[in-house]
Amino acid sequence: MNNFEETLDPEDWEPSRRLAHDMVDDAIRHLDTVRERGVWQEMPDHVRAHFKTPAPMGPQELEAVYEELRENLLPYSMGNIQPRFWGWYMGSGNFTGALGDFLAAVEGSNLGGGNSAAVMLDSQVVDWFKELMGFPPSASGTLTSGGSMANMVAHTVARNVMAGIDVRADGIMAMPQPLRFYASDQVHSCHQKALESLGLGARSLAEIPSDDHQKMDIAALEKAILEDIAAGIKPACVIGTAGTTNTGALDDLNAIAEICQRHAIWFHVDGCIGALLRIAPKHKALVDGMELADSIALDPHKWLHTPFEAGCVLLRDAKQHYETFEMHGEYLQLQTRGVIAGKFLGDYGFELSRGFKALKIWMSLKENGVEKFGRLIDQNIEQAQYLEQLVRSQPKLEIVAPVGLNIICFRYVNNTTDEAALREINTEIMLRLQESGFAVPSDTTIAGKHCLRVAINNHRTKREDLDFFIDKVLECGADLELQAANGS
Ligand SMILES: *Cc1c(COP(=O)(O)O)cnc(C)c1O
Repeated sequence: MNNFEETLDPEDWEPSRRLAHDMVDDAIRHLDTVRERGVWQEMPDHVRAHFKTPAPMGPQELEAVYEELRENLLPYSMGNIQPRFWGWYMGSGNFTGALGDFLAAVEGSNLGGGNSAAVMLDSQVVDWFKELMGFPPSASGTLTSGGSMANMVAHTVARNVMAGIDVRADGIMAMPQPLRFYASDQVHSCHQKALESLGLGARSLAEIPSDDHQKMDIAALEKAILEDIAAGIKPACVIGTAGTTNTGALDDLNAIAEICQRHAIWFHVDGCIGALLRIAPKHKALVDGMELADSIALDPHKWLHTPFEAGCVLLRDAKQHYETFEMHGEYLQLQTRGVIAGKFLGDYGFELSRGFKALKIWMSLKENGVEKFGRLIDQNIEQAQYLEQLVRSQPKLEIVAPVGLNIICFRYVNNTTDEAALREINTEIMLRLQESGFAVPSDTTIAGKHCLRVAINNHRTKREDLDFFIDKVLECGADLELQAANGS
């Protein structure tokens, strides 16, 4: 009878073993030759068509499935594991992290909670982040999918603590006063999204002007707080950004902490880019004051190069964190013994079932040591300074924002001051570099000036990559000028 019962396990493991070994060999070859390939390439139509076929109702050999991926997936990646990828703000991954994801899936635990070693390990990773960020052992935290969710968790706790009522029972409609969150006008868009989702609305976020170094204007912050108090709005939270996404600017965290303390306001640090500076020996002073925060969001999938996804939020007050999210159905009552005993991780965020993303962080931190990750952060900042010098040495190139971290904003300038023409030429340079596979910069606009943006958050980048990149930018700009001269 039992012969008629099916399982997903193969009857004979031997072919699976062979194929899995091949996959590992291929993966190592893929990383070992990462420099030899272009950064990115457009997908041909037949590749796109591949992902439009109906659900496979019957089986096929795993070997054939894998072959499909080798042909149609791996050559058409985003490119952020490549040494000349500096677009937006990514991490570049690492092989140990990839093994961690594989082993986590094999181990298979649900990290919602339970009495497993995986839960111990997850808690240990959060404890390490508390230690590294200067939070006390009594603090709390949780791993999230990324920085957006880390900030959202923190804002939920801040909202509930600052509301003046029991928001969980009565909802935001019962709040006696509207709440206000403050951040600089350089704040990441995820904060608005979080406040919208939390029912507070986009207008609950006051954007404080930034100065000419893109740091929050502290006097303007204080003024906005006083005006809100006078108008009957309750100042709830100041978000200090440790490393803005546009330019890598760092708000004055000590000054923000002082204001928050004086007015009894929640102090949150968005450290998705910069919190990890605390482990960088040469640059840790840049985030002085972060340890005074009530909550910190950080992003291991950025400067720790954890393969996506991995974010983390820390909360100074473990009780407030727990009281915001704790919830158990009859079907999930905790015990003091057995499989469901112990701390329940689902009580610290929105998700119940959770993946074992801690393992990939844990393995690569153990293997390399925190100090090495710190040195890699310093290295990226020094590379940014090097690139800034390269840009400054070229009369055709112009730095658009002060370089304080690992982000360089600059543009190609021809003989015009016409912003629209400059936008057009720099956009074209960016797209040509991306499409050629030479490099992936992105772009942004700072104080009305459109520019190329290079965020060096990449442990594979070398200075020679930056030399090559500048050569290509100049070559491309010269081409475009020639083309314009011939065309008109
Ligand atoms: C990247 C980033 C975020 C969002 O993080 P995700 O991991 O992409 O969700 C938030 N804030 C800042 C400053 C960021 O750079």
